[in-house]
Amino acid sequence: MIELDDAWAQLKATLPAPQAEECLPLSAALGRILSEAPRASHAVPPFPASAMDGYACRAVELAALGEEGLAVVGTAWAGKPWTEALPPGSCVRIFTGAPVPSGCDSVLPQEELGREGDRIFAEATLEGGRYVRPAGGDVGEGQPLGQPGIALHARHLGLFAAAGLEAVRCWRRPRVAVLSTGDELAEPGAPLAWGQIHDASQALLPAALTDLPVEVLGCWHSRDNTTALERTLGEMLEAGADALISTGGVSVGDADVLRPWLEQRGALTFHRLALKPGRPFSFGMLQGQRAFFGLPGNPVSAFATFHLLVAPALRVLAGETLTPTLRLRGRLAKAVKKAPGRRDFQRGVFTATAQGFSVEAFNAQDSHLLSGLAEANCLLDLPLPEGDLPAGAEVTFLPLT
Ligand code: AMP
Ligand code: MG
Repeated sequence: MIELDDAWAQLKATLPAPQAEECLPLSAALGRILSEAPRASHAVPPFPASAMDGYACRAVELAALGEEGLAVVGTAWAGKPWTEALPPGSCVRIFTGAPVPSGCDSVLPQEELGREGDRIFAEATLEGGRYVRPAGGDVGEGQPLGQPGIALHARHLGLFAAAGLEAVRCWRRPRVAVLSTGDELAEPGAPLAWGQIHDASQALLPAALTDLPVEVLGCWHSRDNTTALERTLGEMLEAGADALISTGGVSVGDADVLRPWLEQRGALTFHRLALKPGRPFSFGMLQGQRAFFGLPGNPVSAFATFHLLVAPALRVLAGETLTPTLRLRGRLAKAVKKAPGRRDFQRGVFTATAQGFSVEAFNAQDSHLLSGLAEANCLLDLPLPEGDLPAGAEVTFLPLT
C-alpha cells in the first residue's frame, strides 16, 4: 500500500504536459487554462479620466475659487469628451469616467463647491491634483495580464475585455471518458432485475467533471469480463480519450478483471493506497500517453479518490498550475472512531462558530453510503497513524462546498 502523498507525487511525475493550444474568444474562455499570458492592447484607463462628478480645472488657479471664482465653459461626459482649449480662469463641468480635458490636472468634487450661474466658488482652500485617474494607472499598454497556467475566472475576463482583448490562448482541454464496470449495474432509471443496482458513477463523475477544465466525451459501461472490457476500452481510446476514469473492477474479487488486465499490459503505475475510503485506487498510462484512473466501485470511495487525486491530476493534464488545496482546522463536536494504519477521509459537516469551526463526522462511514456523502459538506482528513479521537480534538478538514 502506498500513502496518498506518495501516490500524488508519482502521478505528478507521470502525467504528460499539455501540447495543443487554441485561441478562444473571451466568451468561450471561462474556466480554461491560459497557455500564454496575453498583453494589454492598450492602457487602462486609455486616457486620464475623472473619478468624480464635479469640475475639472488647473491646480494653479484654485486660489481664484475664494474670490472671483472659475467660469464653467463646457461639459465633459463619459463617452462625450470636451475637446476645446481651456481659457484662463475657467473650468469644465465633468462626470465620472469622462476624459479630463487637456491642460486640466484636478477634479473638484461638486460637494465641495458652490455654484452661482456659470461660476463656481469655494469657501475652504481646496487641494489640487485629486480625482484624476491617470492613463495606464490600472494596466499599462503591452503589459502581460495573468500568468500561464491560471484557470480563468470571470474576474480575469473582465480585465482582458477592458484591456482591449477579444481572444486568448489556452490549452486544449483534455478529453475524458468515463467507464463504469459491473455486471450488476443498470442504466439510470431502468427497471431493476433482482440483484441489480442503479449505476451511480454515470451521474456522479460527469457532474464532478463539469467543475474542471476538461471535455467529457461520454460514459461507457462494461460487464465484468476481459473481452467486454477490452472492447469497451478500445472504444474509449478510439473516441480520442486523453484520460480514462473507471469505477469498479480494481479490487481483489474474482469479478475484478480491470486491475489484472492493466497489470498484464504493464500499464499500472501503482494500486492500493493506504487510504480510507479508496484503498483499491489504481493508476497507470495506456498507450504511453493516456492516463488511466481506476476508481473503486463503491461510490463514496470513487468520489473521495476523484476529489483527492483525479481532479488535481486532470488539472495538471489541462496545464493548470495548482495552488494548494484549501484545508481548514476545526474542533470535533463529538468523538470520532478511527483505526490507525490508513489515512481516513471521513464524511461530515462543519459549521462556523464564534470559537472557530466545529466539525462533526457522521457515525456511519461505510463506503457504500451515498446518503452520507450527499449530506456531507466536508471530508475530515484524519492522519494515518491516528486512532480514535475525543470530542474537542483539533482536526483538519477539506470543505466540499
Ligand atoms: P467493485 O469495486 O467493482 O467490487 O465494487 C464495489 C461495490 O461497489 C459493489 O458493491 C458494487 O456493486 C458497487 N458499485 C460498483 N460500481 C458501482 C456504480 N457505478 N454505482 C453504484 N455502485 C457501484
Ligand atoms: Mg465490480
